Amino acid sequence: MKRFGALEAGGTKMVCAVGDEQGRILERISIPTGTPADTMPPMIAFFRDKGICALGIGCFGPVDLDKNSPTYGHITSTPKLPWQNYPIVQEFRKALGIPVGFDTDVNASALGEATWGCTRDVKNSIYITVGTGVGVGVIIDGKPYHGMIHPEGGHILLHRHPQDPMEGSGCPFHETCLEGLAAGPSLEKRWGVKGAELSDNPAVWELEAYYLGQAITNYIMVLSPERIILGGGVMHQPCLLPMVRREVARQMAGYIRGKGIEDLQTYIVGVSLNDNQGAMGAVKLAMEALAEQEAAK
Ligand code: ADP
Ligand code: ZN
Repeated sequence: MKRFGALEAGGTKMVCAVGDEQGRILERISIPTGTPADTMPPMIAFFRDKGICALGIGCFGPVDLDKNSPTYGHITSTPKLPWQNYPIVQEFRKALGIPVGFDTDVNASALGEATWGCTRDVKNSIYITVGTGVGVGVIIDGKPYHGMIHPEGGHILLHRHPQDPMEGSGCPFHETCLEGLAAGPSLEKRWGVKGAELSDNPAVWELEAYYLGQAITNYIMVLSPERIILGGGVMHQPCLLPMVRREVARQMAGYIRGKGIEDLQTYIVGVSLNDNQGAMGAVKLAMEALAEQEAAK
């Protein structure tokens, strides 16, 4: 049985895991994200003696995914300064001497769900994480979509609700983007306490659903996904998912009819892989990197 390394590279923690060809996660550790000098050596040490034949990385971004680019495999313009322009793929390749697959964190999660989880029966899906930031992974025709760089669906611009009590936005770039209005830190900025402590205030979740509903309506119109997954810390709020479905129905106003969307319970769903979707997606990226290397021989 082949073993694969999986890295979920995040701004706060690096989850290093080993998985098999069925996407089963056999072991995992979590390392706080410091500078590359602090964080790379323990990650390399973890992967080195695991008998893995390839590594997959789902990475915070922005990242360069263009295999023809001189900076392919680099983390590019991230606000996490020590990682700016860091060649993470090349460093792991050099240290481990195995093929390395690479994509964004959200594309990896979308791929994990599309391979082993709740979107495995469809070819076109999106995965939205609502956490410290908002990210959107896009699967088109069974493959993570990149386009020019990769979608940055957390930063689409929305209408501010006329009664939104928050001044400004949680995003330094945009006054009214989804992340700036609806990520965990924006909830805290607006209401003064952490999201998890806001469960008994319905106004909080009505506003949150209003913004997520707008964003999802836009994604449906542009990408025509066959299913939508919502994950991330903020979605742990149990009342939120049904409210988002209601808001999507209201904002779509019956305009689109299609297979799947007639039942929003099964069209807009929660994550299905016990928060392993990112690591499992990274395993799939590793499997693809190995297959690509073998095909090139
Ligand atoms: P990250 O995006 O960093 O990977 P998470 O997806 O866990 O991390 O999201 C963290 C965010 O989710 C924080 O802003 C936190 O306040 C928020 N959060 C966690 N639990 C809840 C909850 N039950 N309700 C609302 N927000 C929550
Ligand atoms: Zn923004």
